[in-house]
Amino acid sequence: MPDREVDYLLIGGGLATANCARRLRSEGADGSIMAIGREPHPPYNRPPLSKAYLRGDELRDASLVLPRAWWEENDVELLTRTSAMKLDPDARAVKLSSREEVGFEKALIATGANVRRLRAEGAELEGIHYLRAYGNADAIREDAARAERIVVIGGSYIGTEVAASLTALGKRCTILMQEDVTLERAFGREIGGFFQAVLEEHGVEVHGSDELERFEGGDGRVETVVTRGGRELQADCVVIGAGVMPDVMLARGAGLDVGEGGGIACSARLETSVPGVFAAGDMAEYESVIHGRPMRIEHWDVAARQGETVALNMLDGAVEHRAVPYFFSDLADWTSMEYVGPGSGEPVVRGSLDDGDFTAFYVDHGRVTAALTVGRSDDLEHARRFIVEGSAPDRTVLADEDTELDDL
Ligand SMILES: Cc1cc2nc3c(=O)[nH]c(=O)nc-3n(C[C@H](O)[C@H](O)[C@H](O)COP(=O)(O)OP(=O)(O)OC[C@H]3O[C@@H](n4cnc5c(N)ncnc54)[C@H](O)[C@@H]3O)c2cc1C
Repeated sequence: MPDREVDYLLIGGGLATANCARRLRSEGADGSIMAIGREPHPPYNRPPLSKAYLRGDELRDASLVLPRAWWEENDVELLTRTSAMKLDPDARAVKLSSREEVGFEKALIATGANVRRLRAEGAELEGIHYLRAYGNADAIREDAARAERIVVIGGSYIGTEVAASLTALGKRCTILMQEDVTLERAFGREIGGFFQAVLEEHGVEVHGSDELERFEGGDGRVETVVTRGGRELQADCVVIGAGVMPDVMLARGAGLDVGEGGGIACSARLETSVPGVFAAGDMAEYESVIHGRPMRIEHWDVAARQGETVALNMLDGAVEHRAVPYFFSDLADWTSMEYVGPGSGEPVVRGSLDDGDFTAFYVDHGRVTAALTVGRSDDLEHARRFIVEGSAPDRTVLADEDTELDDL
């Protein structure tokens, strides 16, 4: 028998959890809600960790998803520093690290993702960092303050944002990456090249088509990053942004179905293979009605909205998660992008890359599948419509600024 029972048990203590709790209460749910999270903090937003928070421009409380007082005021029991150790789907109960066993009526699993660690000689040296939580950002900031040269490994959004933030703090940053140009894997060579040019204009050195061989150091601290291509990059501090892996340990241990993308498989309603147990955020692999296939997406907006979809379905709704995934990223105050997708194909550019004012519509087999904008947020509404409707506008017309997107 569990030690206690709750109506809604929200496991994860991150963004999706907080949004689920908030929506449950705003929809009038009057049952008991317990949220548990491994970290010592109430749920917080991670995007500032590579941006304003890393630069010291934002304090911790500004990045909380909900004000500290919200939890008590809304009668939601928040247990921080608490892990869910074992989920028993038959008994509908979870064993916590506090040894307490909690039974539930409905549950959300939103355990997020863990950074992908690189194995290499010297990886244990001091001064080598990953970035996922407040503590990592604090440690990078502290180390960076003493460093002159910083090497960032990875040319995707964490790597580019960190390099921009630390360069803005006056550090000499070098990006080392496997891709030819930054952000190429997500946005293609042409658009990735735009962001690389912005980084280089501000003094970031970028080495593509190369990768980490080993770290060398002295007195237990990193000093050099040696690359497969034979470069020896001086480094007083290293930050690695090499992607994340969905944290499915708890769910897998409970026997929940795992998808081909490595996330926890769930329906368009975000319900897992166990009825009444839902998944959301970075570890959820859901049947996307819009894309016609299972998707797992590691974006802030997706985790936040999925948390809300789960709340509605916990309240016996029949709500499919239909939002077109949205993503944003900033390179210091140099430039920022917004993206809807995900999609593949050739970019059709409307506007000017040289002026840093454009939207790239990604067209695959004639259809718009995604769009990235710099400075033209209004275009994203049109892009969403194209994606949902499966529109196939003429490329030349799409690129022509004299055409109103409304008319397409
Ligand atoms: C540095 C950084 C910058 C980012 N910038 C952007 C950006 O600019 N734009 C964007 O769209 N996205 C960005 N993201 C991604 C975005 O923050 C994530 O997609 C989002 O946080 C996912 O929310 P989540 O609720 O799924 O997981 P999380 O917010 O990671 O929460 C999961 C929580 O579950 C806890 N947990 C795991 N297992 C257990 C367990 N067994 N018991 C209890 N607790 C457990 C974890 O410790 C964690 O606290 C960024 C991410 C990082 C790290």
